[in-house]
Formats: sequence, structure tokens, C-alpha cells
Amino acid sequence: MRFIDEYRDAHAVRQFAQAIAQITTRGWTIMEVCGGQTHAIVKYGVDELLPPQITLLHGPGCPVCVTPVELIDKAVEIAARADVIFTSFGDMLRVPGTRGDLLSAKARGADVRIVYSPLDAVKIARSNPDRQVVFFAVGFETTAPANAMAVAQAAKLALTNFTILVSHVLVPPAIEAILGSEDNQVQGFLAAGHVCAVVGYEEYLPLAARYRVPFVVTGFEPVDILQGIYMTIRQLEEGRAEVENQYARAVRREGNLPAQKLVTDIFEVVPRKWRGIGEIPASGLGLRPPYHTFDAERRFGLTGYTADESPLCISGQVLQGKRKPFDCPAYGTLCNPEHPLGATMVSNEGACAAYYRYRRQELTADG
Ligand code: SF4
Repeated sequence: MRFIDEYRDAHAVRQFAQAIAQITTRGWTIMEVCGGQTHAIVKYGVDELLPPQITLLHGPGCPVCVTPVELIDKAVEIAARADVIFTSFGDMLRVPGTRGDLLSAKARGADVRIVYSPLDAVKIARSNPDRQVVFFAVGFETTAPANAMAVAQAAKLALTNFTILVSHVLVPPAIEAILGSEDNQVQGFLAAGHVCAVVGYEEYLPLAARYRVPFVVTGFEPVDILQGIYMTIRQLEEGRAEVENQYARAVRREGNLPAQKLVTDIFEVVPRKWRGIGEIPASGLGLRPPYHTFDAERRFGLTGYTADESPLCISGQVLQGKRKPFDCPAYGTLCNPEHPLGATMVSNEGACAAYYRYRRQELTADG
């Protein structure tokens, strides 16, 4: 299959692993920002092919994991209303809030529906004019264009029964927060290819220059990731801190300009709280004032909530690459996919879920 098989090719994987070993002269710590890349790394054992001096840290790029616990509580409260049809991507349904999750709300009779596109939620709103239809709009720069399009379409159709519960987050401010923290260990980043396909990679240029760290825009298959690591280490070994593009088959420097325009027409940059991490300035998207009528928090009067994470869960540290899932005392015992304490154990892109799915045997074997 073109664009898949060649990027899972065992010979190419071995060649890049050897090339990395040949150029590595000392220890380096690299972060892959995206949870999709974390899963690929753990699933294919990419980290096990690297020289022992290379440490991979898993970053905060899991949209489900960083959605604040208060927003899950708000979603559960909105979904419980008899006049509401609550729509969401399936991976948000089992994320725990302090009052349960959306799946439990559904079991209690709430009308919670899984959709595959926010435009499906707009369709549901058109066919149910006597119900309020809410879409849970979470995600990074990758999902923002489709959510912006749903709002634009609802505005065009003059729908008065459609809103979105917004939890959009942006990657570069989170990277800057990691680089600016006192105990930062990250020396180079694999930038997520799909985010850059939308926004390009010019935003990384000032970060690379200011913090003297290389960024390599990287895809999601094992060969992509190993090549991205190779390019990052080559820069580190040569003392360079530049932005390079491994994922040129999908990413252009300026990104997708029509998609960016759609997003900036509907959304504006706002401060955003990240689950387990806290508020990061200018790190999220919120609806612009002309579109406040499509804001579910305003429609249902749900402002000013606060809620605390389980004190046992260290997912904020896992998301910042400071700890690994195995470091969590609750991992695999009090916390597992059937009974998750934190979002990183539920999400398809969560680091705890990746380790539980692909590395559990190791933990058992090691005792
Ligand atoms: S294993 Fe569970 S409790 Fe521990 S950090 Fe991960 S999600 Fe949180």
C-alpha cells in the first residue's frame, strides 16, 4: 500500500536504527509531542531500537488527556438535561470527571450520541429543531478547522439549537511551557506532522532559535519516527537548532492556508487550562464574540466550575514527560482501562493506555 508499507519496512527501520547508533556520541533527550506517535513508538518498540544514551519522553499531545476535568463535569451535566442531545467523538465517553463519565450518563438515560464529524452534529440539530444539540469540540490544531466549519454552517443555517462545548488547545504554547520550566530536560522535539499539515511549521522557528533546540516535523509510522529521531540527533550532534521537515509528503512550511483562515474567522486565541498541567497563557481557542451564541458554556450558564484530579493520578507529570506511566503507583492496579483514574489511561493517544496495551507483559515479567 503506497505511503503505508514503505514506512513500516523492516529493512528501512534497521537502517535508520543503525544510522542513529553511528552518529550518537553522547546522551540526548528527545520528546515526541503527539500521543499518536507515543502509541506508534510503544507499539512497534521504536524506543527499544535506539542506543541506550537516547531517551524518548512522551509529550502533552493527547487532546482527550488534556481536556480539563471541569469540562468533563460540564459535559456530563449538559448531557443529563432532558432537552439535550449530546454528541461527541467516541474517545471522550469514558474519560472520567469528578461526577462520572459520559458513558455512565448515557446509561442513566442521557441522549449521548457518538458522531464521526462535527458536521454530523449539525445535521442532527437540523433534524431535531425542538432539542438542543451540543458537540464536544476538543482537540489540537488538527480538529479546529472541522469544528470551525460546523459553527460556520450552523450560523449560515441560522440554527438556534446547536452549540459546541469548546476545549481547543494549541501545541506551540505547551512546548514553550515545557522549554521554559526550571526542570526541563528536553533537548529536541519531534513536531507532530498532522498539526503542521494544518498550521505549517513557521511557529517553531522562534522557539528553536530562542531555546536552542531542534524541531523535526515527523510522521507517524515507524520509519517516519526513526528518521525524525535521526534528523534530530544529527542536529544535536552538529550543534544546530533548526526546524526540519521529515514529513514533506504531507506538510508544507506555510501549512493549509484556507483551513487556517476558517479557524481564525470563527475562533480566537484564549488562555486555556490543561488537565493535570494547569492554565497556559494563549494556549487555546475560544469562539469569537460574533459566535458566542454557539458556545455551550454560555448557553447553559456553566461558568466558574472547578474540580480536582484524583490525588493518586500523576498524569500531568506524564504529559509533560517528567514521569513515565510505570512510575505511577496506581498504574495497572488501582488504575487500568476498565477503571481509569486519569484520562491518559483511557484515551487512544494516552501514554498510560499505550504502556498498558503494549508493555504490560514486561511489567508482569519484571515483577
Ligand atoms: S496510570 Fe492512571 S492514575 Fe497513573 S498517571 Fe496514568 S492515568 Fe493517572
